[in-house]
Amino acid sequence: MVKKYLTMLVILLFVLTGCTAEKKVSTEVFTAEKYLLGTDITVSIETGEEANLICNEVFSRVKDIEDKMSAHSGDSEIALLNAGAGKEKTVLSAQTYHVLSQATEFAAITGGAFDPTIGSLVQLWGINSGNGKVPVEQDIQKSIALVNYKSLQLAQDGTNCTAYLPHQGQIVDLGGIAKGYAGDEAKQILLANGIKSGMINLGGNIVAIGKKKDGSHWRVGIQNPLAPRGTFLGIVQLDDKSVVSSGAYERYFIKDGKRYHHIIDPNTGHPSESDLIGVTIIADQGIAADALSTGVFVLGLEKGIKLVDSLQGVDAILIAADKKVFTTRGIEDFKLTDGDFSL
Ligand code: AMP
Ligand code: MG
Repeated sequence: MVKKYLTMLVILLFVLTGCTAEKKVSTEVFTAEKYLLGTDITVSIETGEEANLICNEVFSRVKDIEDKMSAHSGDSEIALLNAGAGKEKTVLSAQTYHVLSQATEFAAITGGAFDPTIGSLVQLWGINSGNGKVPVEQDIQKSIALVNYKSLQLAQDGTNCTAYLPHQGQIVDLGGIAKGYAGDEAKQILLANGIKSGMINLGGNIVAIGKKKDGSHWRVGIQNPLAPRGTFLGIVQLDDKSVVSSGAYERYFIKDGKRYHHIIDPNTGHPSESDLIGVTIIADQGIAADALSTGVFVLGLEKGIKLVDSLQGVDAILIAADKKVFTTRGIEDFKLTDGDFSL
């Protein structure tokens, strides 16, 4: 039986056009969609008897991640960790512990530009809750003092994992990394079910599995940060990678003609005044791509490129505010399709 929440479609795989002399190919794929982690999650795999079940397994796994790691739901592990700040340590599942450890690692790698303890600032600006407002500077400074990934105490003793935030008011927010992790988990489920070719789209975060069924490369459109969602400025071809983008265009509010977006610079406590308007990270691991997309956005063009170049198996497409587009060494197959931008 089809579960009521599941929208299922057997669609013709739409191949992006407008680039190479490549033929248009149509292959039957099974696509299922569900709203989770604050976004639409789409799984596209080869049509088959088990396709529906496999997609359901992916959705339950992502739902489990949401239940454990959302900062919004009151009884998630992260909500309990935040509620215990300055009071007591919280017992965590191995999964949440893993994501928190990875988050602190990427915080270290980005020199704190990505910081999972950013939550007090995210809440203060109210951007994710839809109640965006410009806080008074005094409150911003108070919140900045609470943001420090180094203060998060993680401990593992056998299978017993705990975390502790030592200062009251500290808030962990995994919004910049959880979708990447969910993509990795979804991919593992597809692989465990023998799927060798498929695509998972988590609100614009793409996990491409293998090559396309016809043997050609996956073609992923890169969002034009200055145009409505779904408008691409270029296309990158790749196989078996995660592609995650961050930008000032994703979530924001406008006050007195100024746009305040959702990526906060932990140093200033304000939405990052980056010289970048869009960052796409391409990596084997979605969790890395997600944390780095947020971190590199905050770091800006120069430091961002330097960091990505120093990391094995990680590449980036960086879009600067002056409409210049930069790609790192490993990006071989990126084609700019919008003449407003230059490479
Ligand atoms: P992303 O869309 O992956 O760039 O993640 C943005 C989300 O991560 C925001 O909506 C916040 O929940 C959270 N966030 C904002 N600024 C930071 C930061 N500097 N480090 C880590 N997470 C952040
Ligand atoms: Mg991110």
